[in-house]
Amino acid sequence: MSGKTVLPGDEVAVAEEYMPAEGTYEQDGKILSSLAGELELDQEEKVAKVSPKNPLVTLKNGDSVFCRITDVRASMAICEIFAAEGKEREITGEKSATIHVSKLSSEYVQDVGKEYRPGDLIRAKVIQTKPSVQLSTQEAHFGVVKALCRRCRSPLVRQGKGLRCEPCERVESRKIADDYGDINF
Ligand SMILES: [Zn+2]
Repeated sequence: MSGKTVLPGDEVAVAEEYMPAEGTYEQDGKILSSLAGELELDQEEKVAKVSPKNPLVTLKNGDSVFCRITDVRASMAICEIFAAEGKEREITGEKSATIHVSKLSSEYVQDVGKEYRPGDLIRAKVIQTKPSVQLSTQEAHFGVVKALCRRCRSPLVRQGKGLRCEPCERVESRKIADDYGDINF
């Protein structure tokens, strides 16, 4: 049973055989999971543990994450983090974060909507985890890694400092990452 993914409330062992530990509790002679994660039945210590599968709970400053822009406001972009880079790009469940206009680019940004659009996939750096997750995309390696044309939804291709839609023969501005287009999700 070790390595199995369990959900909160799942029966993972019986109290006669195992002791509850991190992520588990005992109820009516059964050991139940208190969270979603990976089950570990320690045969030597006779404990049943569940480790959270979501590496975002251990998000720390400096981590590189992939997010999807969900909303753009005057002073910030709002996004959902869906993966932490370097952790096998594991899909981790979504988590809300914001990028303040002052942390968006190394250059002065007047209009957040000219740099990011809802639906854009970006790479960002974690600069704060509590009480809310704040991200920065100032450095060259951070910014949009994949974006679609606002009009026809074709993937945009890089053209100089901007992005181009071939079918529409239109150019859109973005704060793009230095490896735009090289990442496959
Ligand atoms: Zn287009």
